[in-house]
Amino acid sequence: MGLHFQQDFTRVRSHTGIGSSAEEAVGLQAAQAANPVSGGATLSKEEKQKKLGRAEELRAHFLRKSLVQLRQVEITLEKHATHAQLWEFFAPTLWSFRLWLKVGPEDTGFPKAVHESVRLVRENLRNTAKIVEVADDFGLCAAPSVIAFFGNGGVNVCSRSYARSATCLANAVAHEIFHLVGLAHGSVIYSPGSHPCDAVSTTDQSLTNPWCMTDFAFQVAEGSLYTFEATC
Ligand SMILES: [Zn+2]
Repeated sequence: MGLHFQQDFTRVRSHTGIGSSAEEAVGLQAAQAANPVSGGATLSKEEKQKKLGRAEELRAHFLRKSLVQLRQVEITLEKHATHAQLWEFFAPTLWSFRLWLKVGPEDTGFPKAVHESVRLVRENLRNTAKIVEVADDFGLCAAPSVIAFFGNGGVNVCSRSYARSATCLANAVAHEIFHLVGLAHGSVIYSPGSHPCDAVSTTDQSLTNPWCMTDFAFQVAEGSLYTFEATC
């Protein structure tokens, strides 16, 4: 599935033969004029390597910090902390649970969501999938809004994406790696202008959706200014 710059989530489909199944992509049109995505291809090879290296450092940083925080919630939960204690210690993290995973300490699904998010963030952090650059006219990157997609066991980053910040790239790679560890969002119906995770209504769907999980993990780490929504 292709990962797109997001301002208008008009749904489009393309079938490129790249990857193991038909690819589905989320298109955007309105934002492109105001938020141009070309220019990445003009960076030198060294500049691109540097930016990708920085993006990988950032991805590791965000996921590691997120994992530490989520483990603290998990450990506190195992000590049978009350809801009030959890809110007292972990309010920003619990708001992230509410926003992205549609669950809070008061809900029966909360312990499962904590354990599962710990597992998924850890798996993403440990994943060493190959990241390769793909020309802007190749495969899913031929759609102008696409940032990255996964296929053949690795992450493919469109050349244009190198014009974006390293934090945006870190988000994009984390998103694609969530796909590689088994998450998908093929059945979600997007509404134009809204975040794709808004269309997800249950915790189980959120925990299997890279849009929700990536922004959840990055927000838990450093706050909402570091989500895909804010950085891409
Ligand atoms: Zn995706």
